[in-house]
Amino acid sequence: MNTEQIKAVDHQCVLQTYARAPFVLQRGQGLRVYDTQGKAYLDFVSGIAVNALGYGDADLLKAVAEQLVRLIHVSNLYYTIPQTELAKMLVDRSFADKVFFCNSGTESVEAALKFARKWAKTTHDPNKTDVLAFSGAFHGRTMGSLAITPRPHYQDPFRPLMPGAKFARFNDLASAEELMDDKTCACIVEPLQGEGGVIPADRDFLQGLRQLCDSNGSLLIFDEVQCGLGRTGTLWAHEAYGVTPDLMTLAKPLGGGLPVGATLMTQAVADTIEAGDHASTFGANPVVCAAAQVVFTKVSAPEFLEHVREAGSYLGERLADLAGKHDCIVQARGRGLIWALETNIDVAPLIEAGYDAGLLTCSAGPKVLRLLPPLVVQEAELDEAVAILDKAFGLVQ
Ligand code: PLP
Repeated sequence: MNTEQIKAVDHQCVLQTYARAPFVLQRGQGLRVYDTQGKAYLDFVSGIAVNALGYGDADLLKAVAEQLVRLIHVSNLYYTIPQTELAKMLVDRSFADKVFFCNSGTESVEAALKFARKWAKTTHDPNKTDVLAFSGAFHGRTMGSLAITPRPHYQDPFRPLMPGAKFARFNDLASAEELMDDKTCACIVEPLQGEGGVIPADRDFLQGLRQLCDSNGSLLIFDEVQCGLGRTGTLWAHEAYGVTPDLMTLAKPLGGGLPVGATLMTQAVADTIEAGDHASTFGANPVVCAAAQVVFTKVSAPEFLEHVREAGSYLGERLADLAGKHDCIVQARGRGLIWALETNIDVAPLIEAGYDAGLLTCSAGPKVLRLLPPLVVQEAELDEAVAILDKAFGLVQ
């Protein structure tokens, strides 16, 4: 099929839940992806914060290829070596004592919600089932995670949602204090909101939530699906805050592009979960775990994280220059290698101008342009992307 035929058949056969870019991507190498016409695009989306190592990382490919030949899948009825090794890596390098594996970010949130409810029912009260979440949050699209993602456009067509979701204002501790009560089993928050516009939590806010959860007998869940695993320049985004959660959700970059999710928890939570309480057929199969071990080993290395911080502060400076040059940019904000340009214009034409010039970017709300380069990005590529954006802003203003 040629490019136009692929697009036509996609429209005919694939449920159109995405407004796709107007080209068909065929291969990737390094920081670039190539479409069916052979056109190259510098990728500052990374499959939405997934491809931390870019495309074609030799160690990742080797590990996956070897595991593909050895054993692809057997289900979680059996022990497998790659899963056990991955779990040990995650536990050794985090607050957590135990990991539950699944296949995506939304599933990792569903698991966290279920575990929080089971913990609260077991250790406190069967009616302690409510969940406190925040304005601007994004936790996923399945029924539990959707219920704590407060966007009418996402939620309204699918009501009734999971009951017991309450929303306080992000970075407003007093509003959380008002809503937290005996029925609250957990409070879930992104240490840095990604889809919500690349907005970091304030230090006092996260620390205050920790205390609030402790005094209320509720669990604190950090959703690090987008901001975790090195994206902000520390292995865990919450490291910058001096607080640890009771549960943490991970996904996106963990599998190096293969689907995996993980819900990490303390022993106190794990103690309330029994065999049969939750499950996943595919969760952390041997191939995904072989990939994840390579990703985790690389992104958790101190020199890798140092690179993310350095590249991130360089990008921040370049974006601040850009903001000084173009009146429609209200603010450049970010941490590590997740950045946003908040504008006072619709960013869709900017994204399209990027496509024309060979750059992939995405939005985080109608007026916010989001940049999520692979974490292995170098200064030359950051310069290249900023130069393209400079021209694109010039075109659309
Ligand atoms: N949580 C956060 C913070 C996210 O950013 C996302 C996806 O963007 C999700 C959960 C859902 O992840 P997935 O799309 O893998 O289900």
